[in-house]
Amino acid sequence: MRKKIVAGNWKMNKTLQEGIELAKGVNEIVKKNGANCTVVLGTPFIHLTEVVKTVDANLIKVSAENCADKASGAYTGEVSAAMVKSTGAEYVILGHSERRQYYGETDSILKEKVDLALANGLQVIFCIGEVLAEREAGKQNEVVTSQVKNALFHLSAEQFANIVLAYEPVWAIGTGKTATSEQAQDVHAVIRACVAEKYGNEVAENTTILYGGSCKASNAKELFAQKDIDGGLIGGASLKPEDFYGIIEAYN
Ligand code: PEP
Repeated sequence: MRKKIVAGNWKMNKTLQEGIELAKGVNEIVKKNGANCTVVLGTPFIHLTEVVKTVDANLIKVSAENCADKASGAYTGEVSAAMVKSTGAEYVILGHSERRQYYGETDSILKEKVDLALANGLQVIFCIGEVLAEREAGKQNEVVTSQVKNALFHLSAEQFANIVLAYEPVWAIGTGKTATSEQAQDVHAVIRACVAEKYGNEVAENTTILYGGSCKASNAKELFAQKDIDGGLIGGASLKPEDFYGIIEAYN
């Protein structure tokens, strides 16, 4: 059985103190009401250590939102995969469309980041997704499969077991425009078939594929009920404990 995951991506929001409060709030609500999925908090680098200390490790896992494409050395301002791991975080989000769009992260840079994350024992939440013009041209399947192939298909099946995929149509991120459950399911099925073609059915069946893009309490249940959707990567709705729990609750 593949893992169901609801992961928050705080992006560049919350001071350290606000982040600790948010993590406390999520921890309390999950402790009180339970979760039938793995809950992950994706936080800015500086929050990681404190958030790891704040949450109950049996209830909530912690993720970075990025890591460097170099192991160590003279790369001022960068944070390595080893540094992320040393905070107690277990996951790292890589390939988010905002990183691709605003920071020029290409498939080949992402390939380096993935290798370093895995070499340092992190699990990778790897984001893929088409922009609006690609969706309008009917190219979404082509775009996502090439993103997966270019950055991930050099991995062994054993390494690939540490990859969680997150399909995030870029036109749905932070826009309030969610993909319909049918649109999302169609692409998730294509992604799973692409993984099966490379690694076989068993690996594909065990691969967690999250949906991301304006996911909220009101649409999570329908999205997560789709056969190939195994949870969500949540931006805006992860910034308040009640909103985030409303999505986690879709699995209760
Ligand atoms: C995201 O940034 O990964 C995301 C899905 O954002 P939002 O939920 O705000 O659309």
